[in-house]
Amino acid sequence: MNEMLLQVNHLQTNFYTESGVVKAVNDVSFAIREGETVCIVGESGCGKSITALSLMQLIPENGKVEGGEINFAGKNLLDLSKKDIRRLRGNEIGMIFQEPMTSLNPVFTIGEQMIEPIQEHLLLSKKAAYKKAMELITMLGIPNAEKIVNLYPHELSGGMLQRIMIAIALSCNPKLIIADEPTTALDVTIQAQILDLLRDIKKEFNTSMLLITHDLGVVAEMADYVVVMYAGKVVEEGPVLELFKNPQHPYTKGLLKAKPVIGERKDRLYTIAGQVPNLVDLSEACYFADRCEHAMDICRVKQPVLTEMAKGQKTACWLYEDGENQ
Ligand code: SF4
Repeated sequence: MNEMLLQVNHLQTNFYTESGVVKAVNDVSFAIREGETVCIVGESGCGKSITALSLMQLIPENGKVEGGEINFAGKNLLDLSKKDIRRLRGNEIGMIFQEPMTSLNPVFTIGEQMIEPIQEHLLLSKKAAYKKAMELITMLGIPNAEKIVNLYPHELSGGMLQRIMIAIALSCNPKLIIADEPTTALDVTIQAQILDLLRDIKKEFNTSMLLITHDLGVVAEMADYVVVMYAGKVVEEGPVLELFKNPQHPYTKGLLKAKPVIGERKDRLYTIAGQVPNLVDLSEACYFADRCEHAMDICRVKQPVLTEMAKGQKTACWLYEDGENQ
């Protein structure tokens, strides 16, 4: 088994708002081994993106990581100074965001935005950094690298920009790439190309990946291991094949049921009724209780904990637990 690269333990990220404290990431733990792709999946507002931003200490100003540990390659990232975290971002951990247009600076050329970080992180001369940028652009299947480096972001298509973001993320040979909905803003054919590219990168460089997505099609294609989040908590996790073949948690089952299947015509797609609860006002109950067709009395008074099921799969649900033993 490969070495452990990232181990997140009991991560707690809260936001301070006028309506109260929002527990956006609530006691979340997961791990990524070298060369492994872990997908965090869930609806909007389930805490998956805030989990990724917490790892990189990029959460908005009114948010705070208030508990837990983020152990990466032997260091707890929460103990590092802002300067050290900045050095780590881009050097050992690359990030790809959903909207490449908003991640790149519109007033600088692609070359300026690639070459400077390469120079800074890899301590290369401008000439060597330019050469590396050219190689990366070409490797990612973008023709005319010499022309591309002189263009501004608005002169490129969404798919091209996402390739540039991937090139920037890869430029310092990171051990881990965190990609937050990297294909959501792209059309389907470009989505497939970007996923192929990420898979090739993983194969060629043995890079680990943390992929944040709401799209179970992306999960099926990319993940080795899946973490399902709901209302800031992990409700189920396991190896991708097990989780798709034998989902246990009613929320995971609902997500899988809601996924369109090619060749199956339905008048209406299945949806999980109800909404994610208000994260300011959480009770002691299972957070999914108001939407769950299996909810029992205990679900409304006591939170289930993640419990190991078959083949490394874990689920937090009273359907599989004896309430008296908790
Ligand atoms: Fe449903 Fe109860 Fe399981 Fe929560 S603990 S998912 S309410 S059955």
